[in-house]
Amino acid sequence: MGAENKIVKPNVEIAPPGYEGPGFFATTLDKAVGMARKNSIWPLPFATSCCGIEFMATMASHYDLGRFGSERLSFSPRQADLLMVMGTIAKKMGPILRQVYEQMAEPKWVLSMGACASSGGIFDTYSVLQGIDRIIPVDVYIPGCPPRPEQVIDGLLQIQKLVENESLRRRSSPEYKALQMKYGLE
Ligand code: SF4
Repeated sequence: MGAENKIVKPNVEIAPPGYEGPGFFATTLDKAVGMARKNSIWPLPFATSCCGIEFMATMASHYDLGRFGSERLSFSPRQADLLMVMGTIAKKMGPILRQVYEQMAEPKWVLSMGACASSGGIFDTYSVLQGIDRIIPVDVYIPGCPPRPEQVIDGLLQIQKLVENESLRRRSSPEYKALQMKYGLE
């Protein structure tokens, strides 16, 4: 059979570890919720400059982030669980970014895309924030200026791993509260 006739099967999520028998499958609540969350991440794209264009390419048909369950972008923080920050963040914009983060409901994750969002990039100036982790906690950093769409997909896969394996109790744990307090968040 020629390559052009090859049938491409869609990815199928593998069931989490558990116990199974005739007509039943049992696993823990953590694992079931983790699997559901992992495959339905709703990103909020906070794009300010060129990295945002690369993100648009990642969303388009060739790379198609929708294959990972994240085709539904949210421009309202209240209906998003992944804040994707891409581009240069001026210090004046810092409070706005923080407000957007605070408006997101738990559980939430943050992905910093590109050199500018992660460290200020080439803009080592008085007006540019030298990394968004100075004002909000970051879960995954994507290097590059700009990162290629493959890197963005890899960053999302890293977030998916965190989401899948996160304990349901993490958000009320003393460690998480300490992290929030470090950033002056409630
Ligand atoms: S990291 Fe590079 S491509 Fe991305 S916003 Fe900064 S200058 Fe632009």
